[in-house]
Amino acid sequence: MLDLARKAAELIVARMDRLPEENAWDGEFRQILADQLMEKPPENGQPAEEVLEQVAHDILPFTTRLDHPRCFGFIPSSPTWPGVLADFMAAGYNINACTWLVASGPSQVELVVIDWFRQWLGYPESAGGVLTSGGSAASVNAFVAARENAGHPERATVYMSNQSHSAQIRAARIIGIRTEHIRMIPVDGRYRLDVEALTRAVSGDRAAGLNPVAVCANAGATSTGAIDPLEAMADYCAGEGIWLHVDAAYGGFAAVTEKGKKLLRGIERADSVGLDAHKWFFQPYEAGCLMVKDVNTLENAFGIHHDVLQDTIWGADHPNFSDRGLQLSRSFRALKIWMSVQVFGMAAFRQAVSNGMDLAARAEDHVRESPVLELLNPASLGVICFRFNPGKNNIDENGLEQINRTILARVFWEDPAFLSSTSLKGIFALRLCIINHNTTWEDVHETLEAVGRFGTEALG
Ligand SMILES: *Cc1c(COP(=O)(O)O)cnc(C)c1O
Repeated sequence: MLDLARKAAELIVARMDRLPEENAWDGEFRQILADQLMEKPPENGQPAEEVLEQVAHDILPFTTRLDHPRCFGFIPSSPTWPGVLADFMAAGYNINACTWLVASGPSQVELVVIDWFRQWLGYPESAGGVLTSGGSAASVNAFVAARENAGHPERATVYMSNQSHSAQIRAARIIGIRTEHIRMIPVDGRYRLDVEALTRAVSGDRAAGLNPVAVCANAGATSTGAIDPLEAMADYCAGEGIWLHVDAAYGGFAAVTEKGKKLLRGIERADSVGLDAHKWFFQPYEAGCLMVKDVNTLENAFGIHHDVLQDTIWGADHPNFSDRGLQLSRSFRALKIWMSVQVFGMAAFRQAVSNGMDLAARAEDHVRESPVLELLNPASLGVICFRFNPGKNNIDENGLEQINRTILARVFWEDPAFLSSTSLKGIFALRLCIINHNTTWEDVHETLEAVGRFGTEALG
């Protein structure tokens, strides 16, 4: 057992050492992978060392290396080593963080971590939460709590900006909101929800006999990093008695820094907040969290008596996390967050989060000064949107899109960086999300230079 564990650890550490020299992305087509891997389950076991080798050579390399210092696509992640080991420990100790009876130590650590999150968000003592697989699961739980809190009305509606993550739309569908009752509200020039338009939509729906149950705000929209006007939305929702959920899956952990705390002001007034520690808090997948301002709203929505679990009721001060969301059997997710913070300390986390915001601001300056790059949206949190556009060459919108698609394809296939794109008011935009604690300015700068070079070559 120890030899195998050592072997697995060696493989992981060797990968980390090699990482900066590797491609940020590798993938393979289905047929090639299927030829290698599709088989009947073997009747007899094989030497475990050989199985590990096969995993390291035939399976794990075919991925986006989301922790590569030049991985800027989608939302990257860069887990800490104590976080990785915590998942190993939790599996090895066979923890099921379902109830207090079954896992009191782990439940207490989850309470500790949730209390840290509570303080970072500026939530009151009445707040609580539950760790989830991710932001998507957090949204489903939030919408269930919102709907139950509203008395589970018929003809319910949910509101979000047209920049909201698809996870929000999916969550609304899952809780039974009809697709035509999910309202996508327009945004301003910086991709922030237009509160006037929200007001009009809610009034119109109420006049038509519909029942608004939740408004969803972005605290770090995935495309642009946009933060919706949280204070104004909190004012409005409080006045109307509508649940305000803030999707802070990507941006929420900016709250550990002074700058981020200012940007997210108003988040502490939301009824619920979704967070993803596997994004900007440097944890391995899966590490999401739903926080609610009043923990009773969550337990009222999810707590269900079950005779076969009657021995697990220890009373109000001993929460059963299975009463706060979808899952009964749950992995011990809190351990990775707790262990990383214990090992590195909050100063290191603040520094690492600031690093992302600083690099994104510096990338914005670079794009503004570049004769061939055009800024499409300023840096917000760790995200910046731009494109290749040398200006004076009279290239029409179609031509610009073609060139930028060509650039993206070349970065994808040739360069050891990974970018992704988005669409901003119909314009094809390149996008950097810079939140890896190992990323340096050199990584960002070389990537921007490569975009300029590929663009100039595409022009030719
Ligand atoms: C990533 C993300 C989600 C989805 O979270 P998962 O952890 O992937 O389920 C939702 N909203 C935003 C803003 C995100 O960045």
